Amino acid sequence: MSEALHLVCPHCHAVNRVPAARLGENPACGQCRQPLFTAQPLELDAPHFDRHIGRNDIPVLVDFWAPWCGPCRMMAPAFAQAASMLEPQFRVAKLDTEAHQAIAARHAIRSIPTLALFRGGREIARQAGAMAAADIVRWARSHVG
Ligand code: ZN
Repeated sequence: MSEALHLVCPHCHAVNRVPAARLGENPACGQCRQPLFTAQPLELDAPHFDRHIGRNDIPVLVDFWAPWCGPCRMMAPAFAQAASMLEPQFRVAKLDTEAHQAIAARHAIRSIPTLALFRGGREIARQAGAMAAADIVRWARSHVG
């Protein structure tokens, strides 16, 4: 019997149910038909942040960043590379803390970049400072059994 996972579509934000065994088969959204994984970090915004954090059954890795932050911009290619390595076991996303200050404040983001890992709507790990792609991947996997 295959366990079904809830996955929030990165395009239309519909909640999909995907059998865990088919996670690696490039699943498409039942609503908008676009791929549920794009090997790119998903740019979260205020209306959809809680939905992705709370409704995904896979862990969600979020890069809290800002456009004015040099280390954040330097880490962006590494984070995109990490996304392609972590999907589909993880949803990889970014939040612009300049554009969405209320969310950053709610999560007590004190420095950027900060990576936070969420599972089941709850933050399970956090790491401040820029990291290389391999280190991001290793760090994220080390917190998910
Ligand atoms: Zn969709």
